[in-house]
Amino acid sequence: MIIIKNSEQLMLMRRAGRITAEALLVAKEAIRPGISTKEVDTKIRAFIEKCGAVPSFLGYGGFPGSACISINEQVIHGIPSSKVIIKDGDIVKVDVGARYRGYNGDSARTFPVGKVSDEALRLISVTEKSFYEAIKFAKAGCRVGDIGHAVESFVISNGFSVVRDYVGHGVGAELHEEPEVPNFGRPGRGARLYSGMTVAIEPMVNAGTANVKVRGDGWTVVTEDGKLSAHYENSVAITDTDPILLTEIG
Ligand code: MG
Ligand code: MG
Repeated sequence: MIIIKNSEQLMLMRRAGRITAEALLVAKEAIRPGISTKEVDTKIRAFIEKCGAVPSFLGYGGFPGSACISINEQVIHGIPSSKVIIKDGDIVKVDVGARYRGYNGDSARTFPVGKVSDEALRLISVTEKSFYEAIKFAKAGCRVGDIGHAVESFVISNGFSVVRDYVGHGVGAELHEEPEVPNFGRPGRGARLYSGMTVAIEPMVNAGTANVKVRGDGWTVVTEDGKLSAHYENSVAITDTDPILLTEIG
């Protein structure tokens, strides 16, 4: 069931989204060579709780962290660990959710650490830009296929591939709601968008093959070929005109 939010619910979504966005800034500040992903996660958790919110991911399906922190060939769902030390040249994906008074924000960014390769920077840039291509179609009357097609065609034209096994989604009182919002699709197909829907649009872009696999820990998703992957996500509210970026601080 697709849930349309009223103005009061959208206000809570804005607040949850803002806390989520600020938690990503906390992560950005913390990330440097030598820090463990567990230390970054601890700072994120402390910030979210200081805001009177709860980390949406903590315990979700049994996930042990407050954020998913995934490095280089890891696509998503990396588990924060004191044994995983960030180093110069890494690209680090941080995916965070905050639940505030019953509503969730969900957002992800990819941070380059120190001196990274030109290809890594281009991958990060194309991934972010593909999100902005997508939201041209994030308005009432468009369909999720329009969004997916926008992401995929932009990414492919830049020589990269989109992950197909994991997709964006509705977001609200539940972290994952209907509809699914794939990063591929056919224009004019899929669920129709209505004003008051809130969705997480989240391109996951690989430098090589689109294929991914799950590591033995049961969580960490990695590229099948070991090449880099980038992630960019915002929760957005659909309106009759431009969407509201709930997890972007203007
Ligand atoms: Mg996310
Ligand atoms: Mg998401």
